[in-house]
Amino acid sequence: MSAAADPQGPADGLDARLATVRARIDTAARAAGRDPATVRLIGVTKTHPIATAEAALAAGLSDLAENRVDALVTKAAVVPARWHLVGRLQRNKVRDVVGRAALVHSVDRRSLVDVLDQRARAQGCVQDVLVQVNVGEDPAKGGCDLADVADLVTYAAGAAGVRVVGLMTVPPLPGDGVTHGDAARPHFRALREARDTLRGTFPEVEELSMGMSADLEAAVAEGATMVRIGSALFGPREEGAR
Ligand SMILES: *Cc1c(COP(=O)(O)O)cnc(C)c1O
Repeated sequence: MSAAADPQGPADGLDARLATVRARIDTAARAAGRDPATVRLIGVTKTHPIATAEAALAAGLSDLAENRVDALVTKAAVVPARWHLVGRLQRNKVRDVVGRAALVHSVDRRSLVDVLDQRARAQGCVQDVLVQVNVGEDPAKGGCDLADVADLVTYAAGAAGVRVVGLMTVPPLPGDGVTHGDAARPHFRALREARDTLRGTFPEVEELSMGMSADLEAAVAEGATMVRIGSALFGPREEGAR
C-alpha cells in the first residue's frame, strides 16, 4: 500500500480518524436518545487533493463535500461519491452543479432558486437543495435571515426543478473563553425550530445540515441529520484556505 510507504499519504490515519468521528456521533446521538444511523456523515475534502477523496470513499465515506464549484467538478469527475456543495454558489456556476451535486446546501436567495430551477428543468431533473440560514447574523457568512426562511421555502416550492429538503447553517465563531459547541448550540436549536415550524406546511423539509469538527456534538444534540466534517477527518487545511 502506498499509504503505508508514505507517512504523508492521504489515507494515513484516516481509518482511525473516521472511527473517532463516528464514535463521537454515536455517543452524542445516544446521549440525546437518537439513533446514530439518522445522522449522515459528510466528509468535507475542500483544499485536499483528489487522492484524499479517493481514500475517503475507500474507507467507507460515501458522502463528500466541497465548498467550491470548480473543485467539486474536478473531484466528482473521478470520485464516484454522493457529492455535496456546501459553499456559496454564484448563478453563473449553477450549470456546473445541477445534476452533479446530490445536494446543494447553500441556497439563500430567490435569484439562485430561479437559475437552479431553469437549469434543472432544462436537464430534465429535480435538484435537491437546502436553504442556508445565517442564524447567527454573521456578516461573514452566507445564508438568508431566519425571518426570511419561510418566504424562501415557499418561493422554492413553486419551482418544479428545485426541491427544498431541509435547512443548513454555519454558526459564527465563538468568542474568547467559549467552546464552539456552547456558542453554536443556540443557533443549532434555532435552525431546528425553524425546520419544525416549516415541516407543518412542507413535510419534505426534513434535513438539518449543521455541525462541523469542533461542534458536532452540539449539532447532534439539537437534531442534526447531516454533519459536515473536514479537519477531524482529513487534518488541518493550509492557513487561509477555505
Ligand atoms: C470547511 C467547512 C466545513 C468543515 O469544517 P471543519 O471545521 O474542518 O470540520 C463544514 N461546512 C462548511 C460550509 C465548510 O465550509
